[in-house]
Amino acid sequence: MNQALYSDVLKILKEDRILHNEPMCLHTTFRVGGPADTVLVPEREEEAVALLRLFSDSGEPFFLLGNGSNLLVSDRGYRGTVILIDHNLSGIEKEGDRLIVQAGTLLSKAAAFALQEGLAGMEFASGIPGTLGGGVTMNAGAYGGEMKDIVESVRLFDCENGKIQTVVNTDMHFAYRHSLVKEGKYVVLSAVLKLHPDEPSAIRARMDELKEKRVSKQPLEYPSAGSTFKRPEGYFAGKLIEDAGLRGFSIGDAMVSEKHAGFVINKGNATAEEIIRLIRHIREEVHAMSGVWLEPEVCMLGEGLDL
Ligand SMILES: Cc1cc2nc3c(=O)[nH]c(=O)nc-3n(C[C@H](O)[C@H](O)[C@H](O)COP(=O)(O)OP(=O)(O)OC[C@H]3O[C@@H](n4cnc5c(N)ncnc54)[C@H](O)[C@@H]3O)c2cc1C
Repeated sequence: MNQALYSDVLKILKEDRILHNEPMCLHTTFRVGGPADTVLVPEREEEAVALLRLFSDSGEPFFLLGNGSNLLVSDRGYRGTVILIDHNLSGIEKEGDRLIVQAGTLLSKAAAFALQEGLAGMEFASGIPGTLGGGVTMNAGAYGGEMKDIVESVRLFDCENGKIQTVVNTDMHFAYRHSLVKEGKYVVLSAVLKLHPDEPSAIRARMDELKEKRVSKQPLEYPSAGSTFKRPEGYFAGKLIEDAGLRGFSIGDAMVSEKHAGFVINKGNATAEEIIRLIRHIREEVHAMSGVWLEPEVCMLGEGLDL
């Protein structure tokens, strides 16, 4: 970042909210990734918006980071600025059957809040380790539920025109692991979730059941970014990978999970290079066997991560 831009950042953020050469392995659930030049940690939405305006206008490269649970960052890191919207920008308000949730709120926290308030509908999201912002962006889903089922509207910052707009569900272009946010330069600031009243004991029972399924089926004991690939139409990625004989296959410390072949895990000190080589290998092998090209669900940041 040039000196003039840095001076403007200092007008918005206190110096201790600016991290230099920050290892991205500390901000990703894969526990992988070299340093980003700068990470900015706003404490209030107004600060985040001011930073987004500044960077959008400057044309300098920036990346919006949530909880890093769907992200592979290059070992060489990122030559640009990361704006963090995670626990630093979280909060939940209740209005009747609706929750107004700030983008950095963990989905697990919002689900726990909903349970406490006797509101049902978020059970599917209680075990997804992302933020509300990341969840809306990805239209995260599990066990038959997706964010699109509970999002009533989303407040977005539009990096093209610097305006904040409220977009209703039907205009969010929600589809499988896709939303309007992925189509342009938008940042999720908050969302209104429409839930429905139910007995807390019934909500808790459903959450516990889904948690049990996750713990028994997914390699939660290892760092990962969840399902590595999207589900190809008519197939299951994990089954295709298993059928290609790749269960347990590893390159360095990057390994196809023995427990769930749809997950690439970091079994110790994996590098992004090992993970991307493994991803390429899986794609080639699965294509050779089935004719299907698996598409990564995991987002990539930095150099050298091309397929
Ligand atoms: C163990 C494990 C289990 C998982 N299970 C599931 C599952 O069941 N279902 C599922 O769908 N996913 C699952 N995931 C993947 C991941 O948790 C989700 O995709 C989640 O929604 C990502 O949120 P995040 O805040 O971590 O986003 P990040 O990984 O930080 O970012 C992902 C993308 O969203 C963008 N983004 C993040 N926040 C914002 C924002 N406020 N505005 C605009 N763009 C933003 C980023 O730029 C990036 O492109 C799992 C991951 C792990 C590690």
